[in-house]
Parts: sequence; structure tokens; C-alpha cells
Amino acid sequence: MKDDLFDYLVATDSIDEFLGYEPKCPECGEKLLPIEYGMPGPDLFEKSEKGEIFLGGCMVDDIQPVYHCNKCRRNYYKNLKDYIDEENNWEDEDE
Ligand SMILES: [Zn+2]
Repeated sequence: MKDDLFDYLVATDSIDEFLGYEPKCPECGEKLLPIEYGMPGPDLFEKSEKGEIFLGGCMVDDIQPVYHCNKCRRNYYKNLKDYIDEENNWEDEDE
């Protein structure tokens, strides 16, 4: 791997994705879904329906969770230690 590519991946936080790292939920062991923020395009909607990602909506915060567990309905921060439970302000399509 080229050094500058590596630096780029680290700098953009995409190194985990590049290496195929799949974070697991510390609570239930389920594979965590990356949360995508912003206005999703059709491709993101498709991924969301396939269960590959979780749409986080347009909320803009300095620190926001990056992983979602479908089982626990929890949103985890990058360190997988801090999380927020899904609340009513998250759209719930199942009920
Ligand atoms: Zn879980």
C-alpha cells in the first residue's frame, strides 16, 4: 500500500472500511451498520433498504454516532463505548 494512500485513508477515517473492518455491537454481537448523514441519494436509500447502512438524517452535530445496531436500536460512537439509545426523534417505520 502506498504511504500517501494510507495517510489519506487514516485522515478521512476510511481506513476501517478499506481494510474490511466490520464493527460488532458490544452488547449483542450483531454487525453494526455505518450511519450515513445528510440528504441521502437513491443509492443510499437502496443500501438502507438492504440493511447495509443506517440513515441518520440531516442532523448536524460536532460529535455524532457513527454506527447503528438494529437489534439494540442503539447508535454507537466511534469508540463503541459511548452510545445513545434510539429515541422518538428517530423515524420508526416498523410500528
Ligand atoms: Zn446490539
